[in-house]
Amino acid sequence: MTNANRTKRGLMEEPSCGLCINTEETTEHILRCCPQAIQVWESIMPGMLRANHKRSFVDWLDAGQAGCGGLARNEKGDWVAGFTHGIGSCSAESAEAWALLRGIQLAQTLGNVKACFESDSKRIVDAFS
Ligand SMILES: [Zn+2]
Repeated sequence: MTNANRTKRGLMEEPSCGLCINTEETTEHILRCCPQAIQVWESIMPGMLRANHKRSFVDWLDAGQAGCGGLARNEKGDWVAGFTHGIGSCSAESAEAWALLRGIQLAQTLGNVKACFESDSKRIVDAFS
């Protein structure tokens, strides 16, 4: 729930974003306008926000632009490396397949490692099992 909604329900007094003082924390702010959100989008799909800045928020959400990301951890669970990849317009299943491909490529760059891959798509997991 956003701070704007919390304020409307009497749960908070200030609707401000915790990161941007004096900016109301709406859903659009969290997903598209907050500088932190912009940094995440730019790392996943560089230029996507600039190319779509004139779209309404609803049209922007429906744009169908996909990205994926993943990470590698060691046997202790510590972060070793990660990746993000802008894909463009595709299905959720295709995004999962891209994530698996990029994960395999990341494992290859790490050298001789035992790798275990996880995915949200049973079909993708079954295809590679
Ligand atoms: Zn913010």
